[in-house]
Amino acid sequence: MLLVCGPCSAESFEQVYQTATAVKDVGVDYFRAGLWKPRTRPNGFEGVGERGVYWMKQIQQELNLKICTEVANPYMAETCLKNNFNAVWIGARTTQNPFVVEDIASCLDGSDVVVMVKNPLNPDIKLWLGAIERFEKHSITNIIAIHRGFSLTYNKYRQSPLWRIPLELKRRRHDIPVLCDPSHIAGHTDYVKEIATTAISTGFDGLMIETHIKPSDALTDSMQQLTVNQLKSLIQSLPQVISESKEDARLNSLRNQIDDIDNSIITALSERMSVSREIAKIKKQHNLAAFQSNRWEKVLTNILKEAAVNHLDINFVKELYEIIHQESIKEQNLIINKSNI
Ligand code: PEP
Ligand code: MN
Repeated sequence: MLLVCGPCSAESFEQVYQTATAVKDVGVDYFRAGLWKPRTRPNGFEGVGERGVYWMKQIQQELNLKICTEVANPYMAETCLKNNFNAVWIGARTTQNPFVVEDIASCLDGSDVVVMVKNPLNPDIKLWLGAIERFEKHSITNIIAIHRGFSLTYNKYRQSPLWRIPLELKRRRHDIPVLCDPSHIAGHTDYVKEIATTAISTGFDGLMIETHIKPSDALTDSMQQLTVNQLKSLIQSLPQVISESKEDARLNSLRNQIDDIDNSIITALSERMSVSREIAKIKKQHNLAAFQSNRWEKVLTNILKEAAVNHLDINFVKELYEIIHQESIKEQNLIINKSNI
C-alpha cells in the first residue's frame, strides 16, 4: 500500500520539517506539502511558493524521503523538475482544464517524475482519463490516479465520494495505481478513517492523507488534517485485504457460482428477447402498437408478486423490469416499423 502524507500547505520550515520527521516514522512513501495553494476565493493564504522548494529539498536529502507538491502551471512544473521533486500532483481544479494539463504535460515531457492526477471536481470520468492520457502522450510513464471526491450533492462529507467513478477508472486502467485522498472527501477528521477503510477494503492501492504537526494552527484545511498520532492509529486499524494469491477457497467457489448464475440470466434474457421478436411479427400483422399498456400492467403485477415471494426488493425488480421492457419495445419497434418492400 502506497502512502502519501504531509500537510495541506507548507507554512514554515519548522512545520514541514517536524511533520516530515514524524511521518517518516509511520513509514510513508512520499511526503506531501502544497507550496502553491489554489484557494476558492482570493486574499487567503496562497502558499509560500518557491521559498518552500528549499525546505522540501532539505527533507528529501536529510530525511531521505520522496517529496511531492501540487503544480498548476508550467512554471511550477518546471521549478519542481529543476529541483528533482520525486513526484508532482495535478489538483482537482487543474485536471478539469485540458489546456493547462496539456501545457504542464509538455513541460514534463519525457521526464521520469511521478505524476499523480487527482479527479476533476465534476464527476466526469472522461476528463480524468483524458488528463492521464495527455501525460502518457508526453511519455510520462509513472502515473498514479487520486480519488479526492466530487463536488456534487450535499452530504455529510465535504465532497461526494461517488465510489463508482474511481472503480470504473480502475476497471478501465488496471495498469494505473489508484489512491484515495480521504482528507479532501471528508473535510473533517471525524470521517477520514471510515473513508480510508472503505477505500482499502475496496482494493485501492494506497492513500494520500493530510497530516500536520499541529492541525489547529494550520493555515489551510485545518479541520481535516490528522495529527501524526491519529495517522498512526488509522494506519494500524486498516483492514488487511487478502491478496489475490492467497484468496479464500470459499470466496472463489462462491464467485464461480455467481458467474454461472450470470450466464443463465443472460441466456434467459436472450430467450425472452427472441420470443418478444416473434410477438412483434404478430403485432405487425394485426396493426398493433409495440407498447400495450394492459399487457405491461399484467407483466409488472406478475413479476412483483414473484419478487415478493422470493424476498427481492420490489423497487429493484420494478426498475430492472422497466429497463427490460423498454429494450423489448425497442426491438419490437424495429420489426414493426421495418418496411416490407
Ligand atoms: C490538496 O491536496 O491540498 C488539494 C488542494 O487537493 P485538491 O486538488 O484535491 O482539492
Ligand atoms: Mn488541502
